[in-house]
Amino acid sequence: MRLTRGRTRLVPHREIRMSPARRPSHPPRALLAALVVGAVGAPAFAGGVCGPEPFVDLGGGVAGGAGQPVLAASGPLLGGSDLQLTLDQAAPGASAFLVLGLSELGAPFKGGTLVPTPDIVLGGLPTGAGYLPIVATWPAGLPDGADVLFQYWVPDAGAPFGLAASNGVRGTTAGDPQALAVPEGWISGTDCANDPAFQVQQYDENTYILRQSQCLTFEGPFLYLLFGQDRVLLEDTGNVNSSAVRHAVDGVIDAWLLAHGRSSIPLVVAHTHAHGDHIKGDPQFVNRPDTTVVGTSLASVQAFFGITNWPEQIVSYDLGCRVLDVVPIPGHEKTHIALYDRNTGLLLTGDTLYPGFLFVPDFPTYRTSIRRLEQFALTRPVTSVLGTHVEMTSTPGVAYPYGTSVQPDEHTLRLLPAQLTELREAVDALSGAPGLDVHDDFIVEVF
Ligand SMILES: [Zn+2]
Repeated sequence: MRLTRGRTRLVPHREIRMSPARRPSHPPRALLAALVVGAVGAPAFAGGVCGPEPFVDLGGGVAGGAGQPVLAASGPLLGGSDLQLTLDQAAPGASAFLVLGLSELGAPFKGGTLVPTPDIVLGGLPTGAGYLPIVATWPAGLPDGADVLFQYWVPDAGAPFGLAASNGVRGTTAGDPQALAVPEGWISGTDCANDPAFQVQQYDENTYILRQSQCLTFEGPFLYLLFGQDRVLLEDTGNVNSSAVRHAVDGVIDAWLLAHGRSSIPLVVAHTHAHGDHIKGDPQFVNRPDTTVVGTSLASVQAFFGITNWPEQIVSYDLGCRVLDVVPIPGHEKTHIALYDRNTGLLLTGDTLYPGFLFVPDFPTYRTSIRRLEQFALTRPVTSVLGTHVEMTSTPGVAYPYGTSVQPDEHTLRLLPAQLTELREAVDALSGAPGLDVHDDFIVEVF
């Protein structure tokens, strides 16, 4: 467990993560113990993408010398998301106790009310000048709709029985993301007289998938548009520098703004990796208002996401009530990243894993990256694995020849975590010698 106040680390970091496969055997109390208390400071949550606040103030405090301590909580209570707890008006220089419970006790205690059942009590939390903000990583695997209650108790000579208490707060967990249907039925070069330059399909209210027409480029890359409360991220810009990509993206953004009663949202253009078929539309966004185009060099990618230890370090990037994890996975290309969306459980794997030819010019690096990505995915709910091309047919192990622009019988875009494990097992078994390794849903090509 790591607890920091400001930038000072107080206790060594110890993080427990739940494997999805092991989850059912863990009672909720054990899961609650996995709460990781980390850095301080986070933006407030406010409707829209954020949804309703999952917290209720239950009262029950006891005033101390500085008045009634006040506890405020925020966060979506999704597995892996940030939980912010802020204590204010506490006695200065005290060591506070944070009481966590899975149900409401409501028992008289020291002149006030002990609100939660004291299932977990974290002691020694320093109140400093009377203000204690903490951020915890909420454990995955708590059942949807489970209650967790919080209350601070603070030694305080000014309290009637020597202990002041904050109000109690009840949070109701949102549960793990649910798998939604991934759009299929993509344009695939079969009707060039009528196909649009980009086909846009909606995954959920805040998630869109675009495919560039194979009539314009045999690559037919997929682009992803992810809306948060504070910004929208476009992953990749396709293989053609034409205004069509700008029109398609602007059209989705305008529709989203209209549906959400907003007039603007900043756009971030990022990339799975720097190969031409994923970045050629970038110039269309360079002069777009309120837009950041992430550079395609490794230094630019690292600087933008704050990755100081490439490729080992996994960082998060918050779109506003929508946190993405950024996992470096070089090997197909040296700047390649995967994005994991905690809200939807989607794992976006670019050209590193998709239903087609997985081109591997740097085998040792690729193998290490696949291991890193599988380890990451095993400890989180992954609803779908989505890459940026489809080259397999619907017949297991059969691909369209590389360069095919008419694909009437494509494999689905969607892969599953099982295919990531299959890929990890495949690269573990390969020597790294040039050649093809054919699987039902993908083909590894080392060269
Ligand atoms: Zn590529």
